[in-house]
Amino acid sequence: MDDAGITLNLRNIRSAAGLSLSRAAEVTGVSKAMLGQIERGESSPTIATLWKIAKGFHLPLTTLIEASTRPEGRGGEVFRTVQFPGSIQVKIVFPFDPVLGAETFHVTLKPGQCHPSPAHDAGVTEEVFVLEGAMEVLREGDWVPLEAGQGLRFAADQPHGYRGGERGAVFLNMHHYRKAGQAQAEM
Ligand code: MN
Repeated sequence: MDDAGITLNLRNIRSAAGLSLSRAAEVTGVSKAMLGQIERGESSPTIATLWKIAKGFHLPLTTLIEASTRPEGRGGEVFRTVQFPGSIQVKIVFPFDPVLGAETFHVTLKPGQCHPSPAHDAGVTEEVFVLEGAMEVLREGDWVPLEAGQGLRFAADQPHGYRGGERGAVFLNMHHYRKAGQAQAEM
């Protein structure tokens, strides 16, 4: 079924990176106890934790989500919707492509819903393109209003965020990773 919790194969990701649990806790900022719970399948990471893990391991978010959801269609046909409890609904439109260094999400914000995002890896750029409704994007400390049909590109290696308007919003969210992150993501 759809939208089951994320069960990350963190042990494989961690051993591929050659990191001990302690070192993984250091680079991700996620506690050893929490990482252990995720590895044992006892806890499903929130989107905030998932982003911390992605940043710590220098991996695009979709490589983590894909590893856990194993979509049947590799050609872009079927990608699952991931509903993070108490958070935003995220659908993978295009998973990470190491040649393009990009991944694209389809995000749904409820009316007034605010979703802060911490800084991603150095050099990550995001684009938001609003499909439905209206929203605001926190860019360099200012909330920038956007309506359907409008887009914004911003540096995402600093804190940023998204806020739904009165009717909520649906938007495409593209992440562009710089070359260094790309090389590491291919490991
Ligand atoms: Mn972000």
